[in-house]
Amino acid sequence: MLMTSATSLLVVSPHPDDEVLCCSGVIQRVLHAGGHVSIVWLTSGDGSELDLLVVEKSLLLRPSKLRELALRRMQESREAAAILGVPSDRLYFLGYPDRGILPLFTDYYITTYRSRFTTSTAVTYPGTLSPGRAYTGQNLEHDFETVLDKVRPTLVLAPSPRDSHPDHRATGLVTIRAMAQRNELSRIHYWIVHGGEFWPIPRGYEPELEMTPAPVGHGLSQNPFKLEADEEQRKRRAISAYHTQMEVMSSFLLSFVRTTELYSTNPMPGN
Ligand SMILES: [Zn+2]
Repeated sequence: MLMTSATSLLVVSPHPDDEVLCCSGVIQRVLHAGGHVSIVWLTSGDGSELDLLVVEKSLLLRPSKLRELALRRMQESREAAAILGVPSDRLYFLGYPDRGILPLFTDYYITTYRSRFTTSTAVTYPGTLSPGRAYTGQNLEHDFETVLDKVRPTLVLAPSPRDSHPDHRATGLVTIRAMAQRNELSRIHYWIVHGGEFWPIPRGYEPELEMTPAPVGHGLSQNPFKLEADEEQRKRRAISAYHTQMEVMSSFLLSFVRTTELYSTNPMPGN
C-alpha cells in the first residue's frame, strides 16, 4: 500500500466502530505521510451488532431508544476519529438502516425500505449527508457516489464481500460497483471484521500478538500491515471511545488491537 502526501484515503465503514477496528493503523500512517483521510459510514448502527447481544436480552428496546443509540454512536465516531487525527470535515454519515444494507440491493433498490428496529423509512439523523432521503438502494448509491466525488480517493479500505455480516458484505459490493464504474477497482483493499466464530483468535486484549487470518477469508491474500507501538496504542484509545460498544463487547473490540492489520487486494478467492 503506497502512502504519501498525495494519498487520499477513504475508509468505508458499515457501522460506527468498524473503521477503527479494521483500519486505525493505516489511517494514522496516511496522516503521518501528510495524506488525507476521509471516513464514510453507511449506517449509524441503529439496529446494530448490538441486537445480537442486547435486543435478544431486552426485547423492550424501543425504536426511540435505538434512534438515541445511533446519535450516541455517531458522536463516538467523531471522538474516535479525532483521536486518530482525522478532521471532522472529512467524516461522512449516510444514515442508512442498520441490518438493511443488503435488503436495499435485493428488494428495495427502488421501493422504500422500513427499518424493523427504528421504524424509519428515510435518513433522519442530523449530521447525515442527505437528511430526508428515502431508504432505497438507489439513494444509497447516489449518496456514496457523492462522497467519492468529494474525496476522490486514491486508496479505499472497504469490507470484504467474504465478511460474515450481511451489512459488511453489501457495503463491500457497493464499493466494488462504484469504483468499477470509475475504472478504479485496483484502489480498493479489503478488510474483515466478522471473520468467523471465535475470530479474532484469541479473543481479548493481546497487543503483543499478530492478527491471524480470518477463517471466512480463506483463499484471500490477507496481507499484514505492521503497526508501530504508538499507532497500536492510539488504536486502542480510538476503540475505547466507543463506550456504547465497549459496554457489550469489549473483548471482541480489543481483539483488534494487534501488531498487524490484514488487508486483501482480492475481494474474493481466485484471481
Ligand atoms: Zn459492522
